[in-house]
Amino acid sequence: MPSADPQVAVYTGTFDPVHLGHLDIIERGSRIFRRLVIGVGINPEKTPFFSVEERMEMLQIVCRRFSNVEVRSFNGLAVRFVRSLGAGVMLRGLRTVSDMEYEFSMSLTNQTLDPEIETVFLMSKVEYSHLSSSLIRQIAAFGGDLSRFLPPELIPIMQTRVRERLGLNCAGILPGHPD
Ligand code: ADP
Repeated sequence: MPSADPQVAVYTGTFDPVHLGHLDIIERGSRIFRRLVIGVGINPEKTPFFSVEERMEMLQIVCRRFSNVEVRSFNGLAVRFVRSLGAGVMLRGLRTVSDMEYEFSMSLTNQTLDPEIETVFLMSKVEYSHLSSSLIRQIAAFGGDLSRFLPPELIPIMQTRVRERLGLNCAGILPGHPD
């Protein structure tokens, strides 16, 4: 079994799409850890707005400036993915107390599955604590200003996808799952 290096962290999520709240956690994580891997989850039960390849590409665009950050995809148990990389830390972002309950049970489960892997939480900056990918998809669908939520490079990509979806099916533009 690969070791669990405490200097190597993995930040898992759906990132559908990556937004400024995620990016803030990535930036702060990249300063704390020697190496930070972003794990884009492939969940067959979810119908994402962007494919896993698109989500990874957007992350790669916004993470170019961090020399110790890399982007990968994974399916199955996150803790197994973390271990396969030789990482010792799962990095998570916390927005509000409402995130706490879910994150708390997730981290206890992961601790049971692999006691050597620690979960480290970073509190969201106050200006991003209301932000979620689902909110951004809704704002984009209604033509709202995305500049305070998305990295500038990703705004045209988001707008193009919304237009494509609108063209295909006005009613089915927004995937139902919250995140
Ligand atoms: P999922 O909830 O499916 O794991 P997300 O892409 O929504 O995936 O979130 C990935 C991680 O980023 C989670 O730890 C989540 O709490 C954190 N996160 C999401 N939005 C924010 C935000 N606005 N500020 C800080 N962390 C966030």
